[in-house]
Amino acid sequence: MQSRWSDREAQQSVARWQAHGEALALRVYTSRLIGQEPDLVLHGGGNTSVKTTMRDALGRDLQVLCVKGSGADLAAVEPAGLPALELEPLLQLRELPKLDDATMVRELRRRLLDPHAPDPSVETLLHAFLPHRFVDHTHADAILALCDQPDGERHVRAALGADVAVLPWIMPGFPLAKAVAAAFERQPRCRGIVLLKHGLFTFGASAQESYERMIALVDAAERHLAAKGAMPPPMLQGSTAVLPMVERTALLRRALPVLRGVLALPTEVADGPAAGVRGCERVIADVRTDDDLAAFAAHPDARALCSTGPITPDHVIRTKGSYLFLTVDEAVERGRDGCRGAVAAFVERYVRYHAEQAPRHGNPPIRMPAPNVVVIEGTGLVAFGSSQKAARIAADIAAHTLRVKAQAQALSRYEALTEAELFEMEYWPLELRKLGAQPRPLLGGQIALVTGAAGAIGCATAEILLEHGACVCLVDVDSTRLAKIGERLQRYRAQVLTVPADLTDPEQVERAFANCVLAFGGVDVVVSNAGIAHVGKLEDMDPARFAKVLEVNTTGTMLVLKAAAKVLRAQGSGGSVIVQASKNAFAPGAGFGAYSASKAAALQLGRIAALEFAAFGVSVNMVNADAVFGDDEVPSQLWQEVGPARMQARGLDAAGLREFYRERSLLKTTVLPRHVAEAVLFFASSRTPTTGAVLPVDGGLPEAFPR
Ligand SMILES: [Zn+2]
Repeated sequence: MQSRWSDREAQQSVARWQAHGEALALRVYTSRLIGQEPDLVLHGGGNTSVKTTMRDALGRDLQVLCVKGSGADLAAVEPAGLPALELEPLLQLRELPKLDDATMVRELRRRLLDPHAPDPSVETLLHAFLPHRFVDHTHADAILALCDQPDGERHVRAALGADVAVLPWIMPGFPLAKAVAAAFERQPRCRGIVLLKHGLFTFGASAQESYERMIALVDAAERHLAAKGAMPPPMLQGSTAVLPMVERTALLRRALPVLRGVLALPTEVADGPAAGVRGCERVIADVRTDDDLAAFAAHPDARALCSTGPITPDHVIRTKGSYLFLTVDEAVERGRDGCRGAVAAFVERYVRYHAEQAPRHGNPPIRMPAPNVVVIEGTGLVAFGSSQKAARIAADIAAHTLRVKAQAQALSRYEALTEAELFEMEYWPLELRKLGAQPRPLLGGQIALVTGAAGAIGCATAEILLEHGACVCLVDVDSTRLAKIGERLQRYRAQVLTVPADLTDPEQVERAFANCVLAFGGVDVVVSNAGIAHVGKLEDMDPARFAKVLEVNTTGTMLVLKAAAKVLRAQGSGGSVIVQASKNAFAPGAGFGAYSASKAAALQLGRIAALEFAAFGVSVNMVNADAVFGDDEVPSQLWQEVGPARMQARGLDAAGLREFYRERSLLKTTVLPRHVAEAVLFFASSRTPTTGAVLPVDGGLPEAFPR
């Protein structure tokens, strides 16, 4: 590992955060350097601090400690992410023989200069008690490979020499803060302190010194691992048991919906301490099939290593202590039973662990007992979370975990914390606080696929589903327009997947669903929305144009329903399908035969699907919209096609035509894409046990009342 320090960037940082003083500006700069290196910290791990002076309202210069806020991400930290606390009262706390967590948190909050600042790190006192101006703490992979061992200290000494202090595992908080300060006082010339099975602290008089000591020690650890043949470790180098990439993908296409469906269903365990445990929920998947991870998953030791604890304890709240290992047989060959049996056994083990440990820690209620990470033989890993972000965080952590465990095995033997130590960390209120307590959104953990997503209604539909927490796969034949819509929805980042596909081609429809499954794990909501129009009287009808409209609007709907059924049935956890029919299905228009006939057929297909899909718990409903024009940014393609003829027939301009449709409706309403999207959302959220229904969104047209 190399230092990323740059004098020029350091100066730019001082200029950028001038108002906060040079010390804090440089603290922010090197905190970001650490945060940007995933082999040092991941997603809110690690913490940094600086001791400096700040002026209070009375003009007095106060000695303060600026320390990272709890759970904040170092990669993008701002000065406000390192709240300032008055230092002197913190130092006095060291005199206490004991300090419980609740009192510690209260004491820390009392000393914040800004009472509205975020909670300071749980390691604040540790940073305060060390005398150095700058203190850095990471969970560096290479350090963990050395110290997650039965004789970790020996490996640390061999790699880093005598000028680091080494401490055994101690629960973070007040006792660890005191132990680290004492370790430094015993060995005042040390360059850093290794906490076995946890991570590394370095310190210095300047931001650069503290940061570069961190990098130098991690680099020494990496070199030692390389010299011992542990970098890269043999376990990650592949064998004949690793599946080729195309087989990994094919396996995941089959396994993911089943696995995700099993995880979404309440898990009930018949007897023992796990009896009656329920309460699983829909989750999003994040898949990693890198060659080295597939090699890990193909190794004979993989199953045993998956059941060992995390490489550093603060990962436990994201991934649980152990991962579920599935053989190819369990993942696909034995179908649903293979997955269900393995998940039930995992849940039973987790419930037993909770039952054994909880009484010593105030009996906290059990967390979700299902696995967060599943390693599949010869294939790689799949992480699950209640949101795409949670799944991605768990997947990043799991990928590093497998690599570190393989390195530790190559060096000697991987050893994690005991279950008792791990439980204390997993159920520590100060640790769980990092997860935040946001309520689950309406469609949290759900995955939607929307066809015709580059059109006005499709785009509005995708947007409303995203707003309510779903991951959305947007499908459209027009890749240029689709890319533009993707940009428009950029604020939802990885919740959005765009897949160009022609819905008249069965293979392309299958591929769109497969992409959705591989990106998110499955599908719960399918919105069949794509459609085209053709204006022409029957006596003038061009049979080729008629056939094309039928092909897109009717055959396309059938192909989408067919592909949806496969995934939804495999999941077996319910779901919702919404077909955009049209007011024309009930109230056709002269000169509009192709469109009206194709939409009537699509509506009938939706009704048939309602009859058939009920067998696997999926509802199918139709939305009948009328006169939805869209706006300038995303106009309705249908009306671009139909509008000119309609205007001509009625002798109206564009504005006049809109006004005509508004006046025609009972409610005298202009129907917007968003209105149609709201109707889709109603069905998507499965709030009523309704299937086979038609919901008009047309402002009220008596001739189009469903009957
Ligand atoms: Zn730590």
